[in-house]
Amino acid sequence: MQSAVLVIDMTNDFLTGTLKNDRALKTVQPINDLIKRAHQQSLPVIYVSDAHYPVDHELKIWGEHSMKGTWGSEIIPELAPQPGDYSLEKRTYSAFFETGLDTLLRDLQVDHLILTGVVTNICIQHSAADAYLRGYSVTVPTETTEALNEPAYQTALDYIKTMYGAQIISVAQTLAK
Ligand code: ZN
Repeated sequence: MQSAVLVIDMTNDFLTGTLKNDRALKTVQPINDLIKRAHQQSLPVIYVSDAHYPVDHELKIWGEHSMKGTWGSEIIPELAPQPGDYSLEKRTYSAFFETGLDTLLRDLQVDHLILTGVVTNICIQHSAADAYLRGYSVTVPTETTEALNEPAYQTALDYIKTMYGAQIISVAQTLAK
């Protein structure tokens, strides 16, 4: 099994900007730990982040956030990509939707995705769905994702586990594999 770490929407707007979510702040350190270990093991680290155009239909629901070319769409400084990491832009919930991610993963011969980032019941859940539909195995380390509230977080993780056969385990368990 070849794994890759995906870091989804850990941009300034989702952590401290227009869609800030204080619950998400506690994911930063665990994600950092996971990324460090991935680098040590030469696993690909792939950032996929919102970079919205003003015409994107998703903005009708959420308002302007993580706009392309702005501070809000930059990865938070604590998790700044390192040389050799990959960085893709998306314009709606799924990390797979018209981002080139699937092609990149196949070129890297990856078949297992470790999903991290925000928001658990939105972009993580949609990305897990698209990963499953394309035949990838999925792990979501519990400390590396958050939702706007606890029920949304739990419901999403339960759904991802049940519907997509994902492993919902701790960072330590993920790293032990
Ligand atoms: Zn968005």
